[in-house]
Amino acid sequence: MSNKTWTKSELEKFKASIIKKKETALEDLSKIKDRTDNLIDQGSSNSIYSSHMADAGSDHQEMENAYYMMQREDTFIKHMEKALNMIEEGTFGVCSSCGVKISKARLEEVPHSSKCVDCKERSKL
Ligand SMILES: [Zn+2]
Repeated sequence: MSNKTWTKSELEKFKASIIKKKETALEDLSKIKDRTDNLIDQGSSNSIYSSHMADAGSDHQEMENAYYMMQREDTFIKHMEKALNMIEEGTFGVCSSCGVKISKARLEEVPHSSKCVDCKERSKL
C-alpha cells in the first residue's frame, strides 16, 4: 500500500514548487497594486483637470482589470496556502473520496486538489 502515499522527498518537491508559485503570485500582486496606486494618484490629479474624459474612461477600465487580476492572484495565493496546509496535515495529493494518489500532472496544475479526476468527474454527474 506504499503507493497510496507520497514519499517525503516527493512532498518536499511539491512543497518547494508551491512556495515558488506562491512567491511569484505575491510579486505579481504587489506589481498590480503599485500600478493601481499610480492610477489612483493620476485619477485624483485628473479630476482637477477634468478635460480628459477619454483618459478617465480607459483608466477606469484599467482599474477594473487590475482589480480583477488582484482577485485572481489573491485566490491563487489562498489555494497555494491551502495546498501547503494539506502537505502539513498529510492530506495533500490523495483523493479524499477514494483514497488513491492524485496524478502528478494534476497536482502540478491544481496543487490543492482534494479529489482525483475520476471522483471529480463523478461528482459532476
Ligand atoms: Zn478518487
